[in-house]
Amino acid sequence: MRRKIVVANWKMHGCLAGNQRLLDGYKQKLAALSHTDFVVCVPYPYLAQAQQLLQSSNIAWGAQNLAKFPEGAYTGEVSAAMLRDFACQYVILGHSERSTAYCESGENIADKFMMAKSVGLTPILCIGETLQERESGVEERVIAEQLDYLLQTRGAEVFFDSIISYEPIWAIGTGLSATPDQAQSMHEFIRERIAKLHSSAAQTLRIIYGGSVNPSNASKLLAMPDVDGALVGRCSLSAEEFTAICQAADQTQ
Ligand code: PEP
Repeated sequence: MRRKIVVANWKMHGCLAGNQRLLDGYKQKLAALSHTDFVVCVPYPYLAQAQQLLQSSNIAWGAQNLAKFPEGAYTGEVSAAMLRDFACQYVILGHSERSTAYCESGENIADKFMMAKSVGLTPILCIGETLQERESGVEERVIAEQLDYLLQTRGAEVFFDSIISYEPIWAIGTGLSATPDQAQSMHEFIRERIAKLHSSAAQTLRIIYGGSVNPSNASKLLAMPDVDGALVGRCSLSAEEFTAICQAADQTQ
């Protein structure tokens, strides 16, 4: 039985005072929930604040990217070891907003994935297709290509203790979510593809869904057998909405 996980992705939002209010709101509502893992991925400058405010709570924290190099002359980059200095446990990798804006390649993402694992961070690998790809009926082929890069170059066992977030690009920040059946079908496809190479890695891997998850659609999405949680963008900026999604996850366990 896989434990569900709900991850907040704050993207480039926040300020010290606002974060404090938001995290206080999260803590107040989530303290009583014990069946689900909760994570908040904050912008780098707020890692120390997240660590300070969350260290004795049931909410873990993480970052939204890391450098593929261990250290060195890489201006503006942040290393995996630096994230561990702030007791991060998770890192989002390959988010479409980064791959599109910063032309991140599959190879870069695979390097970052392995770097995260090498310091004990749990990578949350984002994969997803565009609207045009879905409308042309090639969404499974696109997802297979994104997965195969890691599977073929690094092996299926890398998915032990990792998380994949299926994030159809057409659903991110658009208010247009995948239906529970669309999410289930793609999650099943991802799990089966990994299972062909490593069945126990596939069975323990948590595959979460991201793309306009909100308090109204969360219960049905999270009730699907291969949907092991959610990655939440916009609704994570409201304590009320985010914790309602978390409650829906906790009730499905
Ligand atoms: C995301 O940031 O990964 C995301 C899914 O955003 P939203 O919930 O706003 O669609």
